[in-house]
Amino acid sequence: MAAAPDDERYMRRAIALAKDAAGKPGAAPIGCVIVLDGTVIGEGHNEVGLRPDPTAHAEIVSIGRAARRLGDADLRGATLYSTLQPCGMCSLASVWAKVSRIVYGAGRDDVHPMYFDERHMDTVDFIADAYAERIGVQGGVLLADCAALYYGPDDDVPEDKRTDSAPT
Ligand SMILES: [Zn+2]
Repeated sequence: MAAAPDDERYMRRAIALAKDAAGKPGAAPIGCVIVLDGTVIGEGHNEVGLRPDPTAHAEIVSIGRAARRLGDADLRGATLYSTLQPCGMCSLASVWAKVSRIVYGAGRDDVHPMYFDERHMDTVDFIADAYAERIGVQGGVLLADCAALYYGPDDDVPEDKRTDSAPT
C-alpha cells in the first residue's frame, strides 16, 4: 500500500509524542496518533511504567482514547500511526478496533532486537496476510527520524536500559 500524502505529517506528530515520553520516567519513547477523516481522534505514548500497566503501549492507549472520543469502539476508516512497528498485542488490537491502516516508522530490523520479544514471528506481516482485506500496513515512513528514537540493531545497550528479559 502506498504512503498517503499526510502520512509524514501525522508521523511527525507521533515522533513529537515519543520525544515527550522520553522525558517522563516510566514512559517509553513510542508515539502513536490515530486519524479519521483528517482529524486526530486519539494519540499518546507508551505509559507502561507510568500507570503502571504492561498493556499501556502507545497504540493501546491511543485506541482507547479514540474509541472514548468517538463513543464507539469501531474505528473503521481510521489510520493508526506509530513510530515503531506495532507488537503482536497492538497489531491484533488494531484488528479488533477495525482500524483500516497501520502506518509505522521504524521496523523491527531497524532497531535493537530487545524491542521485539516475538522473535519467531513478524506479527505485522502475519496480520497483513491474515487480514489483508481489512487492514493495510505501511512501514518506513520517516524511517530515519523514527529509528533515531531507539537503540540501533548493533548498539551496546547499557544494562539498566534493557527492556527485555535478557539473561544478565
Ligand atoms: Zn504494542
